[in-house]
Amino acid sequence: MDHLWTPWRYAYVTSADGATRPGVPPALAAWPGDTGCVFCNLIASINYAIEQGTPADQAESAGGLILRGRNCFICLNAYPYTSGHVMVMPYAHLDRLAKLDAATLHEMADLAQLTERALQRLYRPHGFNLGLNLGQAGGAGVAGHLHLHALPRWAGDTNFMTTIGETRVLPEDLATTWVRMREAFAAEQQV
Ligand SMILES: [Zn+2]
Repeated sequence: MDHLWTPWRYAYVTSADGATRPGVPPALAAWPGDTGCVFCNLIASINYAIEQGTPADQAESAGGLILRGRNCFICLNAYPYTSGHVMVMPYAHLDRLAKLDAATLHEMADLAQLTERALQRLYRPHGFNLGLNLGQAGGAGVAGHLHLHALPRWAGDTNFMTTIGETRVLPEDLATTWVRMREAFAAEQQV
């Protein structure tokens, strides 16, 4: 499984666009803060843009934010392993499942289930990976803020990915993915 779970370890740390504040999308750089956390920065920069008058869809697309729950949210992985690679995580900057209160934990499971259904609807995969890497030793690229990776898988795709190695191949650009994903999640929420 090693090659399945390590490729994104360094992606956020190195932050391909060279941003000095990790997690802040270039389009949302007007936000003046820095929490030091990729995911806290992401949400804060999206919220700031909206507060400043940017249409919510525009800000959320720029940040890849797909769905806001009460305690957790779902966003695109900016460095996807496959098309449809999303993450479910709490708003709270916590690093262990053991630290989540029951409501947050349960919502995370609910959103994981919704994610599975939305990915099924959108990509018709043969299977899925849903996984948590806790702590640096556990392979977490962002160890301080736990996040559940969810991605669709297809028979034979490991061979493809092993070959690709560290190279990021984006079969679909993130803006397109965001639009399709929003539609799929909205459709599944109405089921
Ligand atoms: Zn955080």
